[in-house]
Amino acid sequence: MVETLCEICNAKPAVAQCRLCGRHVCEDHIDDHGICTICREALCQICGQRLAIGYCMICGRLGCDQCLVQVDNVRRICKDCLHRLGGKNKAVHALRRLTLKIA
Ligand SMILES: [Zn+2]
Ligand SMILES: [Zn+2]
Ligand SMILES: [Zn+2]
Ligand SMILES: [Zn+2]
Repeated sequence: MVETLCEICNAKPAVAQCRLCGRHVCEDHIDDHGICTICREALCQICGQRLAIGYCMICGRLGCDQCLVQVDNVRRICKDCLHRLGGKNKAVHALRRLTLKIA
């Protein structure tokens, strides 16, 4: 029997396969949701279901394409912030103020 080693630590035998990336990983590198530690770090911090594609410009959380809303050419904000700010137009204004403050 050939034992597959964890593709993350290369030390322990793999016991599970990450459902996102398909890596074979040991018990130390898989979580209760079947996601490896590498994907866990790259996961949307809002829904925790999908891989993140970027940051919310307002709260700074990582978000996936379902949880982030594009507000202009380059910037995205999360649905929570969008809701909190009261819509896309208001969010764009808030972002503009935020950018001015930083600059
Ligand atoms: Zn491991
Ligand atoms: Zn993974
Ligand atoms: Zn998400
Ligand atoms: Zn946000």
